[in-house]
Amino acid sequence: MVTDTQDSVRVRFAPSPTGHPHVGNIRTALFNWLFARHHGGVFVLRIEDTDTARRVEGAVESIMDGLEWLGLDWDEGPIFQSDRLSLYLDAADTLVRTEAAYHCFCSPHRLEQVRAELARRQLPPRYDGRCRDLDANVVASCLAAGTPSVVRFRTPRKGDTTFNDLIRGPVTFSNATLNDYVLLKSDGYPTYHLANVVDDHYMGISHIMRADEWISSTPLHVMLYAAFGWSPPAFAHLPMILGPDKAKLSKRHGATTVTEYRDGGYLPEALFNFLALLGWALDDKTELFTRDQLIAHFSLDRVGKTAAVFNKPKLDWMNGVYIRALPVEEFARRAIPFLERDLPPSVPRPLDEAYVRKIAALVQERTRILSELGKLTDFFFLDTVDYPATSLVAKGIDRTQTIGVIRGVLSTLEDIDNWEASTLEWAVRAVCDQSGLTAKQVFSILRVAATGRSAAPPLFDTMEVLGRDRCLMRLSHALAQLEIAANDSAPEG
Ligand code: GLU
Repeated sequence: MVTDTQDSVRVRFAPSPTGHPHVGNIRTALFNWLFARHHGGVFVLRIEDTDTARRVEGAVESIMDGLEWLGLDWDEGPIFQSDRLSLYLDAADTLVRTEAAYHCFCSPHRLEQVRAELARRQLPPRYDGRCRDLDANVVASCLAAGTPSVVRFRTPRKGDTTFNDLIRGPVTFSNATLNDYVLLKSDGYPTYHLANVVDDHYMGISHIMRADEWISSTPLHVMLYAAFGWSPPAFAHLPMILGPDKAKLSKRHGATTVTEYRDGGYLPEALFNFLALLGWALDDKTELFTRDQLIAHFSLDRVGKTAAVFNKPKLDWMNGVYIRALPVEEFARRAIPFLERDLPPSVPRPLDEAYVRKIAALVQERTRILSELGKLTDFFFLDTVDYPATSLVAKGIDRTQTIGVIRGVLSTLEDIDNWEASTLEWAVRAVCDQSGLTAKQVFSILRVAATGRSAAPPLFDTMEVLGRDRCLMRLSHALAQLEIAANDSAPEG
């Protein structure tokens, strides 16, 4: 029996280029990659592009970008099935010759009628077998006349088909529930089933790890291997990924493609770690793993049978953990493209890297995703900040007292040349003592004046980074705003 630990491991990720890769697809790629790396095996990238009607422009690039972004490097490929059509034609011929498959000349119209009739009788859609036992002469003359045909597998009507799934154990399907599946379409393109089996065989794939939605195709595949006289690889169907409401993860649960996570400001190493835990666990507590630890620990016997739940808050938490662990220079480097994308258009680009680095040091602790940074730090970049004048007035004091505090702070700070956080703090605390207000009240006024908001990174570090000119200008602006407001509301006469 082929086991989890056989010597020569060759696995593949075989996406169909029908759209941007979904996190479920990438989880499949990741498990295959981890398995290959764990066993020192080979990871093949195969593009299953034989369904020409569903092919989406740019999908192949998107798949490869997603894999590269997550560091899932492939050893062979990309191999395109569309370059190997003759292989599948030959394989279909072999099956027809050995009578494991047959030509079917039923028109799409007739097939539709069969389907409609079955639907009316509330039966599952299934080919009725009209061409299954056509006379060889009839087949020959239809082919000679160029009647369009497909090749169908002659699925046994009786008995069972069983295979051993490395995750689920033995799985049995009753053949009576299976169909005479199409292997080769009338345009000469193979269906997924034929191309997939032929390629897995010729590529020497040892283990198939794929989403469990494919499990119902596996009995056909097992029969195909047998019909070709090939021994099948090992199968492992990975548990489904559900949304928090326990429905299959889909668009309505929010972002589902890797591109969306990349553009949304997730770090590839965080998504990598998070996806590895969707269906695999080392134990019931460890959540943070480096790539190397995952490679070292990954094994199929730790892949669960039950569906995994995509817990977005956990991903956000994990991303924050990875962000905090970055050296500040690296954090700043990764932040720049997001800032350049997200800051208001009035902020000149390119951003000054040294300046971003200073800001990065102040916000790294509180960043969960890089796409939050534009909003979190815009006041560092803008010339002026907007806020209602009333938000300057601290709790427990009135506008006149606030004006007094700002005047006091301004005149103290104007004398300071050494614009460092500790000096600023010392000077401002002296103003607190003189004014008889609490530090909390004074800091809150200053915070709004300097940043335009009531929650911001540590005040004096922020003021140091903003710089002397900007801070003094903003304080004067705050004062002017309060004075205007005071004059406006002063009784006339
Ligand atoms: N092309 C299939 C997909 O898009 C591959 C399934 C398999 O791995 O066999 O998922």
